Amino acid sequence: MLQKIGVWLIVGLVLFTVFKQFDKPKEQNQVTYSQFMDDAKAGKVRRVDVQGRTLQVTPNDGSKYSIITPGDIWMVGDLMKYGVQVTGKADDEPNLLVSALYYLGPTLLIIGFWFFMMRQMQGGGKGGAFSFGKSKARLIDENSNTVTFADVAGCDEAKEEVFEIVDFLKDPQKFQKLGGRIPHGILLVGPPGTGKTLIARAIAGEAKVPFFAISGSDFVEMFVGVGASRVRDMFENAKKNSPCIIFIDEIDAVGRHRGAGMGGGNDEREQTLNQMLVEMDGFESNSGVIVVAATNRSDVLDRALLRPGRFDRQVHVGLPDIRGREQILQVHMRKVPIDPDVNAAVLARGTPGFSGADLANLVNESALFAARRNKRAVDMKDFEDAKDKIYMGPERKSAVMREEERRNTAYHESGHAVVAKSLPKADPVHKVTIMPRGMALGVTWQLPEFDRVNLYKDRMMEELAILFGGRAAEEVFLNSMSTGASNDFERATKMARDMVTRYGMSDSLGTMVYVDTESESMFGRQSSKTVSELTQQKVDAEIRALVDSQYALARSILEQNRDKVEAMVAALLEMETIDAEQITDIMEGRPPRMPKLPAATTFGNSAGTAGPAAGSAPATA
Ligand code: ADP
Ligand code: MG
Ligand code: ZN
Repeated sequence: MLQKIGVWLIVGLVLFTVFKQFDKPKEQNQVTYSQFMDDAKAGKVRRVDVQGRTLQVTPNDGSKYSIITPGDIWMVGDLMKYGVQVTGKADDEPNLLVSALYYLGPTLLIIGFWFFMMRQMQGGGKGGAFSFGKSKARLIDENSNTVTFADVAGCDEAKEEVFEIVDFLKDPQKFQKLGGRIPHGILLVGPPGTGKTLIARAIAGEAKVPFFAISGSDFVEMFVGVGASRVRDMFENAKKNSPCIIFIDEIDAVGRHRGAGMGGGNDEREQTLNQMLVEMDGFESNSGVIVVAATNRSDVLDRALLRPGRFDRQVHVGLPDIRGREQILQVHMRKVPIDPDVNAAVLARGTPGFSGADLANLVNESALFAARRNKRAVDMKDFEDAKDKIYMGPERKSAVMREEERRNTAYHESGHAVVAKSLPKADPVHKVTIMPRGMALGVTWQLPEFDRVNLYKDRMMEELAILFGGRAAEEVFLNSMSTGASNDFERATKMARDMVTRYGMSDSLGTMVYVDTESESMFGRQSSKTVSELTQQKVDAEIRALVDSQYALARSILEQNRDKVEAMVAALLEMETIDAEQITDIMEGRPPRMPKLPAATTFGNSAGTAGPAAGSAPATA
């Protein structure tokens, strides 16, 4: 509305200014001043109306014209001498507003235009004309938000971790009485489409509190200070509505490391980020405002954001595994009529690498196929066709692992796991998966039984063998080598080098420290040689020997346990993720038990459920 008025105002101003130009008396100075004076002297002029420097002349013949005087102070006297009737009129001051507009018109026009452009650039935000600094957060109030945890499937760990927040939001007093400190911020980290936004909405929906949603990029503007004032505004709003949730999607848009960019242009983002830090520090943990942020790149975030009191709680929302996919499919299948022959478990098996959003899309595409075929319910054929369509679609190819790659990864990870299980001192293997995660195609998790302070030589030797297990398995079983092991090698080499040069764990070189002292200088690292060439060669040979012996150990373990590796590979290809119990079954020569059904997690009691420790466990990719 305001915008319309603005547009008409501008159009009006343009017309006014243009017309003013044409409005000037046209006949001016057709007659020169001296001619006029001559005429007057000759008695040809009957009457003159003086208005400022304009003279309205009425000659005897009844015609009319106007001229401007050059500023002749004797004029009136002269005219009267010639017998001309002279009248004076007040100076031209028609109407203050019009004349003001006349002078200010062009300026106003330019300013108006500028405002107009600004608003356009901001995407025509709602609110008053001066809403630059207003936050653009959308408010979804507690009554219109119908998303609950029932709509989020397949990420039970993440749900469990955030459920505490729901409890708090429902009854903040209960926690405050006990002096409990609730995190200010929760960071949901995970690949796109895994349900981060969904979880955030579900928290608000379960707790029945308002939900402010904003995207990190909404803070980023070309004007320095705008983002910061938006942050301030948003937090103010939220506090008025507390308890509530602020959801910042794609927080990496504002939260990148400060000072990382080249040159200028980062001021705005830095100020915005700083303001956010200030706000998060500023509010009491009992103010009832909880910030939930989402990103798929927690690695680029400024470390200051992750400090205690800010986003101190990170919740990983990963791609769903086979059971998760089944559950997500079931959630979305509730919304369309489904033929009884549709088997979600089979579909889940056939969709490795699909995210929650992909699966939602799969159900939707299948429904479209069914509709096109005039069916009354969506059947398996529709699903298969939709799956093909999505797989063939150009955009997914890279993310979905090809069958061959899955097999390769299964051998690689089984190699790590079987070696780890066969060595006495190694940490227990907690989980093996061939779900791609980040850069890794698969992961073997080991859970330490207790926190280790000291590293012991025999354990480190075993760790070397475990690291080599992946590549050794590829070699033994597939007779191929993949680049997937490069990170394993880096870690192994570094460990071997440290063992020899830092920890004095080598038999032949003894307990001397052979590290070059490195110093950081302006020009990068500089190392001053403290080791002679000959010793250096000995050190290298020693590292080499260490590495070779442990590689050979890994190989021989795998050769002796061929059946176990094959069994584990089969289990992984079928189930993608196997847990400690299944791994034990395989190692003891039994068929692996079926995966436990994810316990119908009863939320509501936040006490007791220890979060999964996976985040800190050593993992071998
Ligand atoms: P993200 O924010 O992680 O990129 P979204 O939360 O926006 O992903 O997910 C997009 C859509 O995908 C959701 O609206 C939902 O339909 C579907 N979806 C994603 N993850 C899940 C899940 N775990 N359970 C059910 N649906 C999901
Ligand atoms: Mg999202
Ligand atoms: Zn590996």
